[in-house]
Amino acid sequence: MDNQLQYIHDLFPNAQCELNYKSLFQLLIAVVLSAQTTDKSVNRVTAVLFAKYPDAPSLKNANLQDVEQILNSIGMYKIKSKNIIAIAKMVDEKFFNTIPSDPNLLSLLPGVGTKTINVVLAEGFKIPAFPVDTHINRIAKRLNYAHINDNVQVVEEKLKKVIAKEDWIQMHHSLIFFGRYFCKAKQPLCEQCKLSQQCHKAYK
Ligand code: SF4
Repeated sequence: MDNQLQYIHDLFPNAQCELNYKSLFQLLIAVVLSAQTTDKSVNRVTAVLFAKYPDAPSLKNANLQDVEQILNSIGMYKIKSKNIIAIAKMVDEKFFNTIPSDPNLLSLLPGVGTKTINVVLAEGFKIPAFPVDTHINRIAKRLNYAHINDNVQVVEEKLKKVIAKEDWIQMHHSLIFFGRYFCKAKQPLCEQCKLSQQCHKAYK
């Protein structure tokens, strides 16, 4: 790990997933709901959703309008409502009410893309993976790990080359916290940042 990444790690050495969940199924659903939505907003709706529908067998039989009502404060709630009910049905009926750790099986679930799969692998199964969210994407570009036009897959590959595999999970959390609380999209804390000399986006 280079000095920049070590600095970010040392600022947030204990960064961890901020989504609330009590099972792999709930983790999967929370991650699906978190697309383009803050973890805080997701936690607000999942507190209600999981109290009523804690697992795949209960959620697969949920009324769509009821789920939409619970989720209506988050972005894309209509499609997310439909997807999570369909996920619950598939998990219960095709995967025997278990969450697979095989990315190929996870990718069969509606609304589950690369980032969701990587979060479930890393957070749920502790299998080394490197999910790239909006914060990591932004930081990688500000600190020249990736080109401004790189898509998230390219950003992921570039970062995985400069971070040891055993550090992927923790470094992914540290980078997210750095982006969420320090190198924010708007008004990053550049005056306090030791990377401002190297960073071409620094507000100097
Ligand atoms: S100098 Fe500013 S923009 Fe650059 S990494 Fe630090 S906080 Fe982020």
